[in-house]
Amino acid sequence: MTENLKSMTQQEIGAVLKEMGQPAFRAKQVFTWLHKGAGSYEEMTNLPQSLRVQLSEKYPICVPQVVRRQESQRDGTIKYLWKLSDGNCVETVLMRYHYGNTVCISSEVGCRMGCAFCASTLGGLVRRLEPCEMLDQVLFTQIDSGLPISHIVLMGIGEPLDNFDNVMRFLELVNSPDGMNISMRHISLSTCGLVPKIDELAKRKLQLTLSVSLHAPNDAVRDTIMPVNKAYPSEELLAACRRYYAATSRRISFEYAMIKGVNDSEENARELIRRLKGLPAHFNLIPLNHVEESPLEPSSRAAVARFQKCLEDGGITATVRRTLGGDIDASCGQLRRKYTKEKSAARSGNSE
Ligand code: SAH
Repeated sequence: MTENLKSMTQQEIGAVLKEMGQPAFRAKQVFTWLHKGAGSYEEMTNLPQSLRVQLSEKYPICVPQVVRRQESQRDGTIKYLWKLSDGNCVETVLMRYHYGNTVCISSEVGCRMGCAFCASTLGGLVRRLEPCEMLDQVLFTQIDSGLPISHIVLMGIGEPLDNFDNVMRFLELVNSPDGMNISMRHISLSTCGLVPKIDELAKRKLQLTLSVSLHAPNDAVRDTIMPVNKAYPSEELLAACRRYYAATSRRISFEYAMIKGVNDSEENARELIRRLKGLPAHFNLIPLNHVEESPLEPSSRAAVARFQKCLEDGGITATVRRTLGGDIDASCGQLRRKYTKEKSAARSGNSE
């Protein structure tokens, strides 16, 4: 990938422009234009014409293209499938909550974590996203929808902590006062549990919310649905969560996909209560979204309600995630998967 100004901090853009003999104030001008979604340097009317030409030759601006856009008739959720500059596709979902418009963005093309219930990982990892490609998902969702974005969740395709440096840089960019200026407190980052990276994140003491995809009360269950648990067993993961809380004072949010007969019994809930003792935590119970390729089934509504009550009786707050966009394949990786399958079906159809 060519060097991209949109992945650079304002200071770094300043260094590039200084090399080109430009005064210091130009950095803010260029940064501001890029973070407003400018598609070309010609739009940057406060820059000298000669600089616009120089920049366009050296640092082409990439803008993702909308391949598919699906809007839920039920709740206004909009799902985008974007084509990146190299032809790969990623998904972004815009959800309209009472507290603000929230985008769920992807951090990688595909994923190598192999969770048994997840559509994003079925084709493995293709590549990691650049910082500007994460920023563009927020920016162009806002531009296309005309809805101001105030919240971000890194819960789309990919494992954000497996793309650590680019994700950290994206967070810095999207948080910039001269850019989208989205507060860290309005950002959630979800991980399947890469322990060393959780420790690295803790050191940065960011005010974001860390979501941990726990999905199981113990190793016996977690091993069967999340291969990452073999590398970082749940005991180590929970210890890392305790260290994270000690370092940041930020309550951890645990994701828990409710899977029929696998992790949804009251005994499972009681085990969680015992193991999480003393750690301020919030549980997001997500009824499993059925993925065609997987035999796993969602828990019944009654089982979810029983599980929630059991956690709450044990002093753990738990909410059942409202499923938005159920009519538009809006969960993790499903739209990209469908699109890729359609394309390959069309290709093999052509060759016959
Ligand atoms: N890789 C990160 C973030 C991506 S997925 C992580 O693992 O946390 C965001 C959340 O959706 C995760 O908690 C993930 O486990 C969950 N998820 C994936 N597929 C799902 C499905 N079919 N049904 C319910 N939740 C799912």
